[in-house]
Amino acid sequence: MQIQIQCCGIVLMMVLFYFYIRQKRIALKTQWAFLGVYGATFACILLDVFSIGVIEYRHVLSETFARFVAKTYLVSLLGVALSALSYMCVDIYAKQEVYRRQMRKYLVLTAAGVLGTYAAPLYYQYSADGTKVDYTYGPSVYVTYGVALLFFVRIFYLLRKEKAKINPRRREAVCIWLLVWIVASQIQFMYTDILIVGYAGSIGIMVLYLKLENPETNLDRNTGLFNSGALYQYAKQFYVKEQDFPVLVLLFGNSAYQNVQMEKRALAWMDIIEYLLKIPDALVFKNAEDEYFVLFADFDTAEEGVQRLRNRFRLGWGENDASMVHPYWLYLPHANVVDSVENLLYFIRYVRQNAMTFSETDFLRIEKDRVEQMDRECETEQLIMEAIEYDRVEVFYQPIYSTSEQRITSAEALVRIRDKEGKIVPPGVFIEIAEKSGMILRLGEIVFEKVCQFIRRYPLEQYGLHYIEVNLSVVQCSYEDLAQDYIRIMKKYEVSPNKINLEITESASTNAKKTLLGNMEELMEYGVKFSLDDFGTGQSNLNYIVDMPVDIVKFDRSMTNSYFENGKARYVMEAAIHMIHGMNLEIVSEGIETAEQLETMEELGISHIQGYYFSKPLPEEEFIQYLETKNVG
Ligand code: C2E
Ligand code: MG
Ligand code: MG
Repeated sequence: MQIQIQCCGIVLMMVLFYFYIRQKRIALKTQWAFLGVYGATFACILLDVFSIGVIEYRHVLSETFARFVAKTYLVSLLGVALSALSYMCVDIYAKQEVYRRQMRKYLVLTAAGVLGTYAAPLYYQYSADGTKVDYTYGPSVYVTYGVALLFFVRIFYLLRKEKAKINPRRREAVCIWLLVWIVASQIQFMYTDILIVGYAGSIGIMVLYLKLENPETNLDRNTGLFNSGALYQYAKQFYVKEQDFPVLVLLFGNSAYQNVQMEKRALAWMDIIEYLLKIPDALVFKNAEDEYFVLFADFDTAEEGVQRLRNRFRLGWGENDASMVHPYWLYLPHANVVDSVENLLYFIRYVRQNAMTFSETDFLRIEKDRVEQMDRECETEQLIMEAIEYDRVEVFYQPIYSTSEQRITSAEALVRIRDKEGKIVPPGVFIEIAEKSGMILRLGEIVFEKVCQFIRRYPLEQYGLHYIEVNLSVVQCSYEDLAQDYIRIMKKYEVSPNKINLEITESASTNAKKTLLGNMEELMEYGVKFSLDDFGTGQSNLNYIVDMPVDIVKFDRSMTNSYFENGKARYVMEAAIHMIHGMNLEIVSEGIETAEQLETMEELGISHIQGYYFSKPLPEEEFIQYLETKNVG
């Protein structure tokens, strides 16, 4: 029997091990499983060589010992098969208990194989001249091969059945590894003097190493920190074990280096990386988006570590600590506030996109309530997106009563969303989020289009209405193309502009105000009129009325209500009414719920009343019925 091929295998395995231990690694479960396969294969090749030697010198040593060693080599083959199966199962059974339970079953089968192998007889096949042993055969060998075959069949079965759970690279690597073994054992079976099964094992290990177990694949090439793949696998282990861990995320954008000269950036950056590489009791990961994740060993280390890091950043970086770099800090003392690594990464992306969250501070400590709030926002965003996609945006109409004509003369269009279950969601839930995400532009346009369709279907004059009031969000007002878009929609549905009154609110920035005025001018030229909404809420004040070319001022419900509750508020409102009338503008009083309130408003000379006293906002059909009974009939 030859041992040269096996020796090649041993050398190959040793070289791989050398490379493996030299690399910087993190404690991943798959790495332990890989080391298991490595150990079993290495032991198998060594035993192969050893048993060949012992058989050669069996006359000197002892026949029983020779057979024992030969059988131990066979048993080691079972070890390889078992370790390969366990390596695969790491992905499939992420939970430790389930994994252990499965492995126990396989161990029982292995034990049976071991017993069978040792108990069954083993024969030698001698060479033609009868002096040398060519190979061993007999029941002992068949038991080993039989059990190993069962394991291989199981591996193939799992590869197919649990495809979705196994890392695709691992699947591919295990397939190649198995193929090498099968081909090698076929060759050895046909040419019994070519003993290459052991060598094939080392080739298989090389495939696993190169495909996905090389620790270098977990490192970021530029910085030497761990990369996003490593972060994913490492953090996932905590979530699977349902174990909490603290994480600090440093977000570097261009703004982080605001006052650092271009040529000094690289120096500062190198300095920072060097520092991050040496943080004690923590692992640092970097992803392609320049986000740095510091995973601390435990909560106390984290609290201290976060402080230390922030203090270090205050000192500056690069030559003579001259460059001040200001990243955004996102600290999750309890990363289990989200339930999976995917959600953790998604959450961080979400916070990053909503840079608004950072507007006041560069440090965010994220606790459970914050995550819940963001979850709700995400859900609402989803609600809006789906409502837009599946046409579940609806417009309700709330009648507005004219005190001079003593009937309903207009209405306010108010948006609603119908959710999946068919329930109505009020605008209070989603307008702010639609504004934040920019979806308000599309939403507003849909509302306006629906209002135009409504006016076209039910000519307003037939129902005694002069116009419909439609809300404009501040975000829409500062959108350059708003006027053109709305004019285009009115033309499309042949709606006369005097049937439309757009409600605006006060814009915060002067820039937005400029765009708003441009839009208003264009629309007014076309014939559209405007109202100022939310008067009395702090969103709109008297100065604003002076600046804005509006025809109507709408008193917010809070203002109308405080008139009835607070003596001082009365004077404010009466003065406001006086001034607004002086400017020749009309007033709509919102939130009128009782006959007494209506009477008082009439006495105050308010021309238009809106409120539950007349009606809540109604769906299209009901609103038309309402008008038919109240106005027309
Ligand atoms: P708003 O424009 O000031 O609309 C008046 C709100 O007061 C409406 O609430 C209406 O249902 C409510 N209201 C009217 N009378 C009474 C009353 O007597 N008692 C009570 N308790 N409430 C009354 P809604 O429909 O929930 O709308 C809330 C806000 O959402 C609106 O306030 C407006 O700012 C915004 N909104 C509604 N539709 C749209 C839209 O299509 N686009 C935009 N950008 N915002 C909209
Ligand atoms: Mg309004
Ligand atoms: Mg209002």
